[in-house]
Amino acid sequence: ADRNPGQPEFLQAVTEVIESLWPFITDNPRYAEHGLLDRLVEPERVIMFRVAWVDDHGDVKVNRGYRIQHNSAIGPYKGGTRFHPSVNLSILKFLAFEQTFKNALTTLPMGGGKGGADFDPKGRSPGEVMRFCQAYVSELFRHIGSDTDVPAGDIGVGGREVGYMAGMVRKLTNRSDCVFTGKGLSFGGSLLRPEATGYGVVYFVEEMLKHAGRSLDGARVAVSGSGNVAQYAIEKAMAFGAKVVTISDSSGSVVDEDGFTPEKLAVLAEVKNHLYGRVNDYAERVGAKFLPGEKPWHVPVDVALPCATQNEISDDDAAILIKHGVSCVAEGANMPCTAGAVARFEHANVIFAPGKASNAGGVATSGLEMSQQAMRLFWTHEEVDMRLQEIMRAIHQSCIDYGTKNDGSVNYVDGANIAGFVKVSDAMRAQGVI
Ligand code: NDP
Repeated sequence: ADRNPGQPEFLQAVTEVIESLWPFITDNPRYAEHGLLDRLVEPERVIMFRVAWVDDHGDVKVNRGYRIQHNSAIGPYKGGTRFHPSVNLSILKFLAFEQTFKNALTTLPMGGGKGGADFDPKGRSPGEVMRFCQAYVSELFRHIGSDTDVPAGDIGVGGREVGYMAGMVRKLTNRSDCVFTGKGLSFGGSLLRPEATGYGVVYFVEEMLKHAGRSLDGARVAVSGSGNVAQYAIEKAMAFGAKVVTISDSSGSVVDEDGFTPEKLAVLAEVKNHLYGRVNDYAERVGAKFLPGEKPWHVPVDVALPCATQNEISDDDAAILIKHGVSCVAEGANMPCTAGAVARFEHANVIFAPGKASNAGGVATSGLEMSQQAMRLFWTHEEVDMRLQEIMRAIHQSCIDYGTKNDGSVNYVDGANIAGFVKVSDAMRAQGVI
């Protein structure tokens, strides 16, 4: 803590992971030798830089840009770019640390990184957004590259922004290799990247349920959120025979006891993706119940998939879900369950998947985007989907291998942390003290 003052999120993430790893490290002390843990928690490189740009009124604006290159022991740094006023060193260091474990779990050779800027895209004109993106990468470009560091999008950075940044890097370097993922299909993007996180969550849940002797077929499912991850999770859950009865956004929740249908999902996509509407607009169109300001965790369900935002399942929400019979929870969003909620699930024998395992399908498909661009060929939708399913199965197997307890039950949090840690640590040990 003395070495990282003012970085509460980073300290929290490190503490949680080390606590989860501690019994394993005690049993396997070689993983504490040669300063391995001290090296693992220290980013290999932190880049902070000035981003100066000119707004539509001709005024000069100055933001702070960052790239945390946390760990490259198993491959080039890989992780998203966040443009949000809350961005600071602590949050990006926490995200880069977590990303290192998530990427290791995907089975692909990707190290961990994260970047961004304290720029608020809300209310900015398209021209301002483009100039900001160009100013941001006009410094960043010298620190990234297809074999060095491959950023992607995150909050505030979608396909449009990735396109501007990838284009500017191509111009500055005179090279067209893969320096960003999440690109458009016409310039190096991959099929299925938009679907990958939501589909991946459901593939993971199906594996968890199969391991417990059950399946999604006929299960009642609560989904939160109504954006990218939520929509594709709903689509895939329906395909597995589940009945999805809730969605939400920051205005409230929709409960639909009849369950989603492909037609209703098309209405949701129209409302959210094209009309930029709210879930109550959707509820009105399909005749479902809208609960203003409420979370979607108050209906009886078998499975809960939080796919909106951080800390959206509190300790109390978890208690209600348990009371109503939930038996499986998988994180689609990053850190949607508070530590108290996770402890409650564990205590009630609810099978729980942490985001670093269950939502890793997105970054895994970004890894597949890198492979396709390097090979200069494109895989079909089916080929990418097949690889995504294989990867989610492999992540699940890693959790089983490292998270099965003496009584035969599986702690997916410990399993994911230990599996990611072992992979990165073995690579670091083999490469000596550097
Ligand atoms: P989107 O912006 O597409 O969707 C986010 C959804 O969450 C929206 O429906 C939004 O509602 C809702 N939401 C935001 N804040 C709240 C809140 N306070 N209460 C209730 N609902 C809220 O993002 P994504 O679907 O891409 O991402 C969702 C989560 O998944 C994030 O945590 C992200 O980091 C994580 N994730 C995403 C990946 C991806 O590939 N997209 C990969 C891995 C993780 P509203 O419209 O009202 O803002």
